[in-house]
Amino acid sequence: MRAELDALKDNQLFRELVATEHEQGATIRRNGRRYVSFSSNDYFGLSQHPAVLAAARDGARRAGAGASALVTGYHPGMVSLGRALAAYKGTQAALVFGNGYMANLGTISALAGKDDLILADKACHACMIDGAVLSGATFRRFRHNDPDHLRQLLAKRCDYRHCLIVSETVFSMDGDRAPLHALRELADTHDAWLLADDAHGLGVTEDNPVHIEIGTLSKGLGSYGGYVCGSQAVIDFLANRARSFMFTTALPPLVTAAAEQALALLHRDAALRRRPLEAARFFTQQTGLPEAQSPIVPLVIGEAGAALEASAQLAEAGFWVAAIRPPTVPPGTARLRFAFSALHEQRDIARLAETIRQHGWLGHTHLQRLEPAC
Ligand SMILES: *Cc1c(COP(=O)(O)O)cnc(C)c1O
Repeated sequence: MRAELDALKDNQLFRELVATEHEQGATIRRNGRRYVSFSSNDYFGLSQHPAVLAAARDGARRAGAGASALVTGYHPGMVSLGRALAAYKGTQAALVFGNGYMANLGTISALAGKDDLILADKACHACMIDGAVLSGATFRRFRHNDPDHLRQLLAKRCDYRHCLIVSETVFSMDGDRAPLHALRELADTHDAWLLADDAHGLGVTEDNPVHIEIGTLSKGLGSYGGYVCGSQAVIDFLANRARSFMFTTALPPLVTAAAEQALALLHRDAALRRRPLEAARFFTQQTGLPEAQSPIVPLVIGEAGAALEASAQLAEAGFWVAAIRPPTVPPGTARLRFAFSALHEQRDIARLAETIRQHGWLGHTHLQRLEPAC
């Protein structure tokens, strides 16, 4: 273990846990200093919204659900949150999981088995890859956002029983959007299903043309948990087959109450839904980066050490922007990842853009077009 840890340190890939306190707005405190953070996924600021906090307090008559949903943990908060998610997504039903990681792990491993084929975008999140490996299905990856490559891999479709195509709606580390209509058309013509993870798209994407949609309550909704939306048959099947749903305790009532209130706020406030993307677009205008497609904007730096150095220089100027390094992103594409939220003030974004221009990192933007080697 020591040898492995030393190797991580030598390669600038060691990760450290740093105590971080969130204050009002987008401000955080860590290492005794205060920063404006661009590294939170609380896109709409709902984790600190007074109505969400009030719902959590009202839901806190018990601190825990006491059992798995299939035993006695399916409390009224779980029931109504599931209904609200299905209504929001326009599906017959929804299933609430412990978190987004468990929702992906349990769903993908339940839907596919050893005679099946899973085809996933190369940039898919670790939990989708883990679900595919756990399923025992044959697992191939297609080049990021490349339906032509997917079509080539589908040539082998008939060697398998079922085929599942896996993508994200908004990619977590690149901020770009999947060509879901093209993926759906390929799924339909090859008797396959399309599953997409909307962890970063909730409130930003609309009417995703997928068979099954997965998401998290922990990002845009500012709470904690995960969910799957689909037909009643899919949800009944997952409740009986998804092991990360069956063999774990249901979410605490205060958590489901907070998430349901956050979803209601998001649903009724179109202006709030637009704000993170508007903030991201203001930033890409100010820096000359390619126009933001989502609240996430990457600035690819290259080597891990250089990305850490860039992050440290932004910290000097009062901004917290985490360096994202392998294995989260492919080798040679370490980056600064900016996540914009409704909490950001325009003057802070303008000052951030000015700081970045002064450091000359924008010369690296051509790297964003590079297809990673693996
Ligand atoms: C964060 C994330 C998850 C995990 O969600 P949690 O609720 O934090 O476990 C799943 N998929 C994607 C794409 C994510 O970015």
